Amino acid sequence: MSMHRKLIVFIGPPGAGKGTLSQLFVDRLQCKQLSTGNLLRKHIRENTDLGKSIDLALKSGKLVSDDCVIAMVIDWLGNHARDGRPVILDGFPRTRAQAEALDRALAQINADASFGLSVLQMELGDEEATRRILGRLVCSQNECQAVYSMVGAQTMGDSGYSCVRCGNVLIRRSDDAPEAIADRLTIYRRHEREIMEYYRACGAWIMNIAMNRDPETIFLEVQQRLAGI
Ligand code: ADP
Repeated sequence: MSMHRKLIVFIGPPGAGKGTLSQLFVDRLQCKQLSTGNLLRKHIRENTDLGKSIDLALKSGKLVSDDCVIAMVIDWLGNHARDGRPVILDGFPRTRAQAEALDRALAQINADASFGLSVLQMELGDEEATRRILGRLVCSQNECQAVYSMVGAQTMGDSGYSCVRCGNVLIRRSDDAPEAIADRLTIYRRHEREIMEYYRACGAWIMNIAMNRDPETIFLEVQQRLAGI
């Protein structure tokens, strides 16, 4: 991967495979991943003040306020983005205000390190996204939260499924309920248009990628295209 572009932003609908692709980048290219969804769910399970205030928004598929998420991400970048490893932002920015805040934060980090941004826009239709979300399980362990398609998971007797990475039980996310999915997709499409308009206007490096293929094929294509920039 080019040394000048160390921050990769994943923009894609729920169910597109952001988490799955992030896992491949972490395992094989020693990238770091910040999943805002995972971090927010961790706050909820640990019942922190932030967790209590966002529980309802997450369950119903609404977005958490820009202020909360921006503060959380900037804090994370301050602690994790200075060791030279490429960073994947999985689920951030999700609004135009977040994209602008990220640019301001990067301008500060760039004062002492080169931290170019690449945008990966993931393409998947609503019907396929819905099908995938309904068949998705995630690891219940906070530090893991690995994502599984129901078909690929290892069984744990009659009681459920277990994670091949850490052995903990797999669960369905509360916002993966049918009632919340249509709302999440509608919210995503609205913001996707605004974010992509913003990135096109600033001349960001953008890669479009079809996600209706197996993760391995997608990983290889993204890796190759990133290597060429
Ligand atoms: P998905 O991509 O499948 O929707 P995520 O785990 O990325 O799943 O996000 C789950 C939920 O967390 C979102 O529906 C939203 O409530 C909240 N969330 C995650 N990232 C953001 C963000 N950048 N801004 C606002 N809310 C967010």
